[in-house]
Amino acid sequence: MCRSEGASLQRGMNFRLGGRTSVILMSVRPGAPYSDRIEQHGQVLIYEGHDVARIKGGSDPKKSDQPDTTPAGTLTQNGLFWNAAKAYRDHRSAPEKVKVYEKIRTGIWVYAGLFDLVDASKQEERNRKVFKFKLQLSKEQQSSVSVRPIDLEHDRLITTLVKIEVWKRDKGKCVLCGNKENLHFDHILPFSKGGTSLLAKNIQLLCATHNLQERDKIQ
Ligand SMILES: [Zn+2]
Repeated sequence: MCRSEGASLQRGMNFRLGGRTSVILMSVRPGAPYSDRIEQHGQVLIYEGHDVARIKGGSDPKKSDQPDTTPAGTLTQNGLFWNAAKAYRDHRSAPEKVKVYEKIRTGIWVYAGLFDLVDASKQEERNRKVFKFKLQLSKEQQSSVSVRPIDLEHDRLITTLVKIEVWKRDKGKCVLCGNKENLHFDHILPFSKGGTSLLAKNIQLLCATHNLQERDKIQ
């Protein structure tokens, strides 16, 4: 997973990974440890901050406030993302760019897009403090595919359930060449021609190369 990040990610939140773009991993599957949400057809993500580390014999992380500093006084991932969101809100900097990956099943992560970190809040939930981070699909991302704006919007509507079904059917590889890297969910009949995102039979897995070729053919 996440090979393009040059690191095998162990954590859900990775502020400026390797000094570059921040990366977060999200999961909206039932039973996921955090209540991440996707809103406005994938344009907006509400991402929950992370709990204190579970320590043997320590208190239940789900009953403790989510920390913004470590016991040593350095910022946690929550604190780092919080400061970046605040800097943007106070007009002190551009929004933090965040690459988002979504877990569709154990060990399988799909790139959900480049997002801007636009806001953050601390909320009281079940008698403890949790962080909520708001991320918006980046304009950078939108303009890079602006030749097909409708399709972009529609791509976002492929639900996790459809993705899982397609992933299983296509056995996690490009249907044209069998490549297992940088896979994309492709509309067989494009949305602009009436194709749907709601049925797995209109979605297929393609590698980056074949995905681009398909797009060229359509235009
Ligand atoms: Zn391929």
